[in-house]
Amino acid sequence: MPSEKDRTGPASGLENDLSAFWLPFTPNRDFKRHPRMLVRAEGMYFYDERGRALLDACSGLWCVNAGHGRQRITQAIREAAGALDYAPTFQFGHPSAFRLAARLASLAPPGLDHVFFVNSGSEAVDATLKIARAFFQKSGQDQRFRLIGRDRGYHGATYAGISVGGIANNRRHFGPLLPGTDDHLPLPYGRARMAFTRREPEGGVEFADALARMIALHGAETIAAVIVEPMAGSAGVFASPTDYLPRLRAICDVHGILLIFDEVITGFGRLGCAFAAERYGVVPDMIVFAKGVTNGSVPMGGVIASQKIYDTFMQGPERGIELFHGHTYSGHPLACAAALASLDLYEEEGLFERARALEPVLENAVHALREAPHVADIRNAGLAAGIDLEPDLSEPGRRGYEVLTRAFADENLVLRVSGDTIALAPALVASEADIACMVEGVGRVLQTLDREG
Ligand code: PLP
Repeated sequence: MPSEKDRTGPASGLENDLSAFWLPFTPNRDFKRHPRMLVRAEGMYFYDERGRALLDACSGLWCVNAGHGRQRITQAIREAAGALDYAPTFQFGHPSAFRLAARLASLAPPGLDHVFFVNSGSEAVDATLKIARAFFQKSGQDQRFRLIGRDRGYHGATYAGISVGGIANNRRHFGPLLPGTDDHLPLPYGRARMAFTRREPEGGVEFADALARMIALHGAETIAAVIVEPMAGSAGVFASPTDYLPRLRAICDVHGILLIFDEVITGFGRLGCAFAAERYGVVPDMIVFAKGVTNGSVPMGGVIASQKIYDTFMQGPERGIELFHGHTYSGHPLACAAALASLDLYEEEGLFERARALEPVLENAVHALREAPHVADIRNAGLAAGIDLEPDLSEPGRRGYEVLTRAFADENLVLRVSGDTIALAPALVASEADIACMVEGVGRVLQTLDREG
């Protein structure tokens, strides 16, 4: 009997050998028995190997904000590859990185003027946390080392990200984590009061006041930064209550703590503005971005830092490196070209405004699922919605996974689920009919969930 490798290994000549690729955040064995293969994408649709069109209900992974297959972006990447395939940004530079940094600074709230490039959201989180600690070291406050995240926060998958993050499964297999990250604020959500709220729940000061208790416990002089998602995406779409971020900002200001917004999901129009900072009227000290910056086409991430932070680094000998951090591909020419073209599309097609205009459409559609079987809560903000299902207590996560697989097989839908929460995040180019189609598909799946094998 030949082994699986003998039959389907690289030397076998079989094209669809699935054994070698270890998929991230995926039940690999189940996937390889029932693969969901995507081979092409255009507009709001993916296409599988048989040419079946699948409506993309989560903008890829919250990143393809202008829809798939945008020729403007493809052309820009092609031209960049032809002109300058690679250039280092350690000790050298190339024009599009500077152009893009200026463009991003102009989109960010006033005072956030300096952009540090990396290649993913996770790397951007790492960079912002390193900048925060180094900022205090350079300011003569090097006892400020604590980095405070939030329960159910998602800040990527590296050690720093899972340490300030608060998603149990992402943390518990990998300890010990980064020192100085043991404290997490509560997620500003309580189902008893907030279930089925449309957009931002009222209030929320009490959740921010948990920071005051941490300050009392540890002393503000040990705390460097607080990092939060203005709308928690991966945990299942939890928008900030109305008074939450202003209170967090006020407490940070009083105690000299840096406030970081992780806008990897909320950046570039998801909440109807360039950044969620604008929607909430709160200016953080740093914004973390990735995903939509290139419309998902080429990996890129980064940090937009305040003038004060940048100036604190720009001291000492002019020939001395101010920040010992960076990556081979920081500000890669292809990523910069893709990002500049994406920002052009967002602007010329008015896509952030379009997201705002479509917000009530998605809102009304998802809240119509309130009486569907197993639904425990529905939340929405901008072009994002989360639908919590009551978990099957004997197997939490089973219902969510079944929704994903059934939506793909029976409803031609590509969804995102996190545990038993369904996330919808249509591209900002979606039509009202696309939104209706994805929500109705979810509704039909819920009607038959648990009923058949
Ligand atoms: N931060 C947030 C808020 C995210 O949602 C994500 C990814 O979903 C990340 C960081 C990590 O980004 P990446 O997967 O590009 O490393």
